[in-house]
Amino acid sequence: MSEVAERADVLTLDNFIGGAWVKARTRAFFDVHNPAVGDVIGRTPLSSSADVDAAVRAAADAFPGWRETPVNTRAQVLYRFKALLEQHFEELARIVTTEHGKTLGESRGSVRRGIECVEVACGAPSLMMGMGLEDISSGIDCHVVRQPLGVCAAIAPFNFPAMVPMWFLPFAIVTGNTFVLKPSEQVPLSQRRMIDLLQQCGLPAGVVNLVNGGAEVVNAICDHPDIRAVSFVGSTPIARHVYQRASHAGKRVQALGGAKNFVVVMPDANLERSMDAITESFYGCAGERCLAGSILVPVGGVHGEARDRLVAKAQALKVGDGLEPGVTMGPLISARHRERVLEYIDKGVAQGAKLLVDGRSTRVPDRPHGYFVGPTVFDEVSGGMAIGSEEIFGPVASISPVRTLDEALALLKAHPNANATSIFTSSGKAAREFAKHAPASMVGVNIGVAAPMAYFPFGGAKDSFFGDLKAHGRDGIEFYTDKKVTISRWF
Ligand code: NAD
Repeated sequence: MSEVAERADVLTLDNFIGGAWVKARTRAFFDVHNPAVGDVIGRTPLSSSADVDAAVRAAADAFPGWRETPVNTRAQVLYRFKALLEQHFEELARIVTTEHGKTLGESRGSVRRGIECVEVACGAPSLMMGMGLEDISSGIDCHVVRQPLGVCAAIAPFNFPAMVPMWFLPFAIVTGNTFVLKPSEQVPLSQRRMIDLLQQCGLPAGVVNLVNGGAEVVNAICDHPDIRAVSFVGSTPIARHVYQRASHAGKRVQALGGAKNFVVVMPDANLERSMDAITESFYGCAGERCLAGSILVPVGGVHGEARDRLVAKAQALKVGDGLEPGVTMGPLISARHRERVLEYIDKGVAQGAKLLVDGRSTRVPDRPHGYFVGPTVFDEVSGGMAIGSEEIFGPVASISPVRTLDEALALLKAHPNANATSIFTSSGKAAREFAKHAPASMVGVNIGVAAPMAYFPFGGAKDSFFGDLKAHGRDGIEFYTDKKVTISRWF
């Protein structure tokens, strides 16, 4: 909730509806902070269901014209968008770091991944093609085409402000749908800028709309009778809620949830060459990634060496303001989230895990009000401990040693989340066994963060994903289209 009144040096955000920025119909606001500094830099309106309704009406009005627009013309809008995103690449990366806290290098990476989604969606004229067959019976032909659904909506989390909305928006609109986006109320600034850029690309009014807000907006999206499909990315409890509520209302839903990712290190792993990737997996983006490593699982005799190397690497990270050169780990998103992560570290100690590196007292001298937690390493962590079972979403690595690969796989299988996992090994057999039997949908082999590219599907399994078709790639095209079959006979 907002603690600052409207004032000149703090941007109050608007919604984008029917091709124009408009005031939200609310008096409630959420303060946006620069997490490295602690200052309020924006006020997100907590919009009402009336705002959602206005956005859906604009999108529904725009749908007939947009779906009649040739697919190649729709793709041309995205080509122009891609060019503008490139032109404003550095500006966008700085906005991401300022509102989220991750380092500038990490922000650049996330903007790049977002742009790649736009590039892949430009291929819609090929990707959307249907299929056909002559003479399925004498003189009868059959054709399948993919048609857009109508108004689609996406709800984003805080951790990748520029990238996650691009998993959906380009695929939705290039296939002929119109769109309502709800960014995270904690990081609305990069989407504001990206929608500004998109507007300059010749997109008709109402094709893309943005409604800022929190739970009320999400629930209004789930319930709105004129929204046909909902994409969600966020924590597991809310993903489950959105999946149930929106599918109960008859919508197509894909809901990507939280994670607890295991990084398995075999005795034959090349640690000399792997340790940077392993460390980055745990501490990249300060651990605020759904693909972040959470539990390091050394198998057999590699425990001591893997532990010591991780400790040394963690201690070498430079914590600070992500805009500053040389900083390798930024702050957490908010004071509240920092408290939550500190509580997990306290619980780890109280429940008997061995604290090897303690990030609780980390301070950044010239940023005394930033939300920093230093890299933390625990050893001897069991699945019964809070740090061994719950998603922390912070820079806390837990080490759970096991004796065999089967024991490592048993740990993964026992956990309700199954987003991503990695194995480090020089054995093709071990890698194959692991890739085949690990329950996660994304598996890294000697790769720390198993992140598929825009042309592959993205999403987890078990409680990390609710739905069927995943995000982007061909799944994105499938999610945003219906297949229509026409069977014809001409006399
Ligand atoms: P969150 O679940 O708190 O919020 C996500 C969205 O849901 C936001 O837009 C928020 O406004 C809305 N929301 C929050 N509480 C709600 C409620 N009670 N009712 C209705 N809507 C509500 O998640 P977050 O903290 O923004 O993001 C971090 C989480 O997202 C982590 O769990 C992370 O693993 C997950 N995540 C998953 C993926 C993936 O691909 N699986 C990617 C990124 C993040």
